[in-house]
Amino acid sequence: MDNPEHKIWLEGVSKVLYTNGRPLPVLERVDFFAQDGEFVSIIGPSGCGKSTLLNIIAGLEEPDGGAIRFGGHDAPSRLGLAGYMHQKDLLLPWRTVLDNAILGLEVQGVPRSEAHRRARLLMGRFGLTGFESEYPYALSGGMRQRAAFLRTVLAEKDLLLLDEPFGALDALTRVHMQEWLLDLWESLKKTIVLVTHDVDEAVLLSDRVYVLTARPGRVKLVQRVDLPRPRRYDMVTWGEFVALKATLVRSLREESHPDRGAEAHIPGARELRHGSTEVPQ
Ligand code: ADP
Repeated sequence: MDNPEHKIWLEGVSKVLYTNGRPLPVLERVDFFAQDGEFVSIIGPSGCGKSTLLNIIAGLEEPDGGAIRFGGHDAPSRLGLAGYMHQKDLLLPWRTVLDNAILGLEVQGVPRSEAHRRARLLMGRFGLTGFESEYPYALSGGMRQRAAFLRTVLAEKDLLLLDEPFGALDALTRVHMQEWLLDLWESLKKTIVLVTHDVDEAVLLSDRVYVLTARPGRVKLVQRVDLPRPRRYDMVTWGEFVALKATLVRSLREESHPDRGAEAHIPGARELRHGSTEVPQ
């Protein structure tokens, strides 16, 4: 049921995409919500419609069926209501870190000097102090993601949609970024919807995790994560963490055809089977 606490609420959302005129059912009767201030992750086999679901929430795509409410109201036009960040940082190579960060504010019509002031206030929190005048090519992968994140956060949306934001980073940087995001989220009090293929990441960060079936994506499992907050990376060794992860991996593996080698796409699955919970190197 919808209630005003729900930042975003979807009921019975379906979507068919077309390739060369041929219909491809991508999502089927998906029910989903994220409450105000909640951290929700979506996991599922590759191609099951996770990004399509985020695109629908963001208003970049319209569903073929179902209902969507935003902040307790019908939201036929949702474009611009949420901040959206992709795996690719999408920084503009000809703009400095500072000027990339203020892009969203500039689009909103905020004067450059005011936009710069707001961005400078957050540079430290995003680990970018001293790099304001650098161009993206001079930054590490993690720094580029934080710069893209800063741009998303500066746009001041209550709902942030993150599509595999750490997917392209090496394992160690990803862990640092996850801890950094935990810290940031706990102080920002935003609602976050994260698409990830990393089960550890989903459990460590989330209040709830949605598991989607193989395409057409349907909600297969909604798993509450009651680990205490603030969370720390070393919790991945806790029995409670491992049990939650086992439940999610089992649910995902049921969706995976062995011939597709799908386990390779589920970081953490192989380690779990071999009794270790370390992030794969
Ligand atoms: P996921 O994020 O779970 O990997 P996507 O939502 O990106 O899945 O895509 C779901 C399916 O829809 C995939 O099979 C993909 O190839 C297809 N698809 C994605 N975007 C389009 C599009 N614009 N037109 C047609 N098919 C698409």
